[in-house]
Amino acid sequence: MKLTVVGCSGSFPSAESACSSYLVEADGFRLLLDMGNGALGELQRHCGLYDLDAIFLSHLHADHCIDMCAYFVARYYRHDGGRCAPIPVYGPEGTEHRLTTAYADTPTASSMSEVFDFHTVKPSTFEIGPFTVHTERVRHPVEAYGIRIEHGGKSLAYSGDTGVSEALDALARDSDLFLCEAAFTHGKESIPDLHLTGREAGETAARAGARRLVLTHIPPWTDAEVNLRDAREVFGGPVELAAPRVTYEI
Ligand SMILES: [Zn+2]
Ligand SMILES: [Zn+2]
Repeated sequence: MKLTVVGCSGSFPSAESACSSYLVEADGFRLLLDMGNGALGELQRHCGLYDLDAIFLSHLHADHCIDMCAYFVARYYRHDGGRCAPIPVYGPEGTEHRLTTAYADTPTASSMSEVFDFHTVKPSTFEIGPFTVHTERVRHPVEAYGIRIEHGGKSLAYSGDTGVSEALDALARDSDLFLCEAAFTHGKESIPDLHLTGREAGETAARAGARRLVLTHIPPWTDAEVNLRDAREVFGGPVELAAPRVTYEI
């Protein structure tokens, strides 16, 4: 598996990064995890506009899904003629309605479902292309999922947005790479069931026995180096900060 960080800024874009979006590739199949603000532009650095095979949306906060509106335009009004065939989009209950109303507040003749094949995510195990994926409900103010992706005996776990959660521990169990949000800073911000601190991300990785931890979703107003240091204090494995355009071979 190859993981590319398309965007990793938490909650809103930074000068350096779009919001959450990660490209996972194997066997020529491209699965995009989340498509937050600015992700569609960045994505085109890594693959063609129409080269995605499936999209997974962890939850329906704008910083994880809002560029789907722009991607709808690109697929529906395709400039070189013809509408794009629907690609699978996996998201929480209500994803189509959420994206449709975000796109336009008046009914239009165009329909998201003509270019997106929506699938409702529940906690389960299923196949997306060559990947076996496992989804779990995580702790966040809206219905939100973490995902574990397995391919060729390797595993990648992605937290989405979450507070401390046993389900997240299970997703990250013995993972080769654990991509975990660390939006909050230990000792500064503590709101249950919203986000993890760097320390909590490190503790989760340690409990789960993850082999490598990549911290992501750190907002521009937060000192990422502090969250990195806090994670390293409690997790003995390699820890680093996600950065746009960085790739990992898993
Ligand atoms: Zn978020
Ligand atoms: Zn969120």
